[in-house]
Amino acid sequence: MTDFLSPKERSERMARIRGSNTRPEIALRKVLHSLGLRYRLNRADLPGKPDLVLPRHKAVVFVHGCFWHRHSDCSIATTPKSNTAFWVEKFEKNVARDNRVTALLNATGWRVFVVWECELGSARKAQATGERIAELIRGEKGF
Ligand SMILES: [Zn+2]
Repeated sequence: MTDFLSPKERSERMARIRGSNTRPEIALRKVLHSLGLRYRLNRADLPGKPDLVLPRHKAVVFVHGCFWHRHSDCSIATTPKSNTAFWVEKFEKNVARDNRVTALLNATGWRVFVVWECELGSARKAQATGERIAELIRGEKGF
């Protein structure tokens, strides 16, 4: 990660990237759709605005950027060497928010699945990840 942006500039840039319709998310959607799963996008009425919502399966999927959401043991989840305290605080907030959102969704009966961007880094990875997630989504009895 280059460091020539100020934290604020980078923050703004990443916020934009973080929005829906990122490339990894589209890759996952395509695979899930090809496997016959139907979903809705970014349901604003649910905590955390999940990227994909599968009402039939009572499941939601978040596609998380590894850097922002701190994918553990992932090479993308670096910590910038300048303004480190700023970043650490920001990351902690993001992770805390993710945990809170998951708890809220679980409390209302939603199953929460997280897919990391590095798991969608190529068409082949996206296919394998999509198949795994589809199986998990369908796996649980009673849905
Ligand atoms: Zn990752």
